[in-house]
Amino acid sequence: MLGEAARTSEDAARYLDAYASAIARLAPHCTAKSVRDNPGISIKLSALHPRYEVAQRKRVMTELVAVTRQLAIAAKKANMGFNIDAEEADRLDLSLDIIAEVLTTPELAGWDGFGVVVQAYGKRVLPLIDWLEATASALDRRIMVRLVKGAYWDAEIKRAQVMGLDGYPVFTRKASTDISYLAAARRLFASPSIYPQFASHNAHTAAAVLHLAKEAGRTPETYEFQRLHGMGERLHDVLRTTAGTRTRIYAPVGAHKDLLAYLVRRLLENGANGSFVYQISDEHIPASAVAEDPIGKILALGEAIANPAIPAPQAILRASAKLRRARPYRSHRFWRGG
Ligand SMILES: Cc1cc2nc3c(=O)[nH]c(=O)nc-3n(C[C@H](O)[C@H](O)[C@H](O)COP(=O)(O)OP(=O)(O)OC[C@H]3O[C@@H](n4cnc5c(N)ncnc54)[C@H](O)[C@@H]3O)c2cc1C
Repeated sequence: MLGEAARTSEDAARYLDAYASAIARLAPHCTAKSVRDNPGISIKLSALHPRYEVAQRKRVMTELVAVTRQLAIAAKKANMGFNIDAEEADRLDLSLDIIAEVLTTPELAGWDGFGVVVQAYGKRVLPLIDWLEATASALDRRIMVRLVKGAYWDAEIKRAQVMGLDGYPVFTRKASTDISYLAAARRLFASPSIYPQFASHNAHTAAAVLHLAKEAGRTPETYEFQRLHGMGERLHDVLRTTAGTRTRIYAPVGAHKDLLAYLVRRLLENGANGSFVYQISDEHIPASAVAEDPIGKILALGEAIANPAIPAPQAILRASAKLRRARPYRSHRFWRGG
């Protein structure tokens, strides 16, 4: 569903209505016995509550849990997949509290369609998968996990800098995220309670996932690939025809005026010079560089794994404080100028 965080209760009510109507519209198309063969829906928790924030935990744990549960029960009745999209790192803990609470709902017992998205650029991705596996198996549930690299990288970096944190919640080199994705894929293949869903448009990542699937003794119907509507068509066609895997297509739905935020995320993602989609469309970059092994890239750096172009947030604040001390008049003007 297009549209981003709800700003008011009216916004949240509108998004709830849109999600509920989408489930109702998709329900007649959920004709397969297995939820894995039926359509699914992805929801954003931030769209369902105007104060989805840690400081409002008490309210969120009643109001947001209630609406998420209501939608999950409707999805279960339709036998369709229901995914919680991954958003910002600082709300990850809160989202897990909500997920744990919704998962315990007795009406959801015996349904394998509840899904969670995890971001490989997040440094907590492996413990997060451990937690999901443990939570699902303690409740005797099977869940779906969509593995993505993460769409909010620029915002995560900027937020950590503004807050002057000790470090970043996300990796600062693209190759580190690529490796993290593969480590997480291997972890997912080893999880008996998880149905893995690999969302990527990167051919090296997809080829490595196929390799890991083989290594884990997985057959194509025990996992799936995913792509965004309008992207990665050829790669996913090749995967289906050569490896017999399935691809689920994630399609944004909504009014034209709500397209902007989604479009900006896709532009940031695909406009970055390290992006696979960007590199593959540049004829001057040889195929060997586009599909370079990320492990080799990181090993070649030796000790210098942290990206020197992105100093720790604390170091940036220290440097600007020093500058203010050295040039008091200019810094005074700077602050007056806001
Ligand atoms: C079906 C589907 C559903 C999705 N749902 C979500 C979702 O719920 N939440 C979400 O956050 N994203 C979601 N995404 C987007 C996803 O996180 C990626 O942004 C996108 O798929 C690009 O990754 P890639 O493997 O296709 O391409 P690649 O070009 O291989 O990877 C690009 C990614 O690398 C990472 N990266 C880039 N530069 C750096 C750097 N300097 N340091 C560290 N990492 C870096 C970023 O995560 C960037 O998006 C979804 C994608 C798909 C296909």
